[in-house]
Amino acid sequence: MDNEQLGLAKELLQRKKAILEKALSGKKMPKEEMPSWLLRTVPKDRKQMLKDVDQALERMASDNFGFCQSCFQEIPWAEIARFPERELCETCIAREQILSSMIKSRKKKTRKKKTAKKKKPAKKKKAAKKKPAKKKKAVKKKKAAKKKPAKKKKATQKKKAVKKKKAARKK
Ligand SMILES: [Zn+2]
Repeated sequence: MDNEQLGLAKELLQRKKAILEKALSGKKMPKEEMPSWLLRTVPKDRKQMLKDVDQALERMASDNFGFCQSCFQEIPWAEIARFPERELCETCIAREQILSSMIKSRKKKTRKKKTAKKKKPAKKKKAAKKKPAKKKKAVKKKKAAKKKPAKKKKATQKKKAVKKKKAARKK
C-alpha cells in the first residue's frame, strides 16, 4: 500500500467514524444521508463498527495498518478500499468464521440438553429411579435361576460317578 492509498484509507475511516458517531448520538438522520451499509446495521453493530474504526485509526498511527492482525500478511488494497477497518485477511476471516460457528453449534447442543432436563418434572425422575432397582432384582433372580441347574448337573454327574465306581467294584 502506497502513501496515496494510505491517505485514502484514512479518509474513508474518518468519514465512516463521523457517520457512525452521528448515527449513535441519537439525533435523527434523514435516510438520504445514511449510506447503505449503515441502513443494514442495528445500533449494537454500529457501536462495534465504531470500535473497529477507532482501532484501525490507531493501527494507522502505529504503522500497523493494512496488515492482518493474526498472520501479519498484507491485506490486498481492494479489500481495504471496500472495508478499511478490516483487521484480518480473507484466510483468517474464513478461519474465524468456521471456529465461531463450531462454538455456536456446541453452545446450542448444551442448551438443548439443559432445557430437556428442566422440562422433566421431579415426580417422573423418582419413578425413573425406582424402575431400574426392580429390574436389578429381576436380574438377580434370573442369575439365581441359572445357577440352580448347574448345581443339579454337578449332582447328577456325581451320582453317575458313584454309579460307575459301584459298577467297577462289581466287576
Ligand atoms: Zn491473516
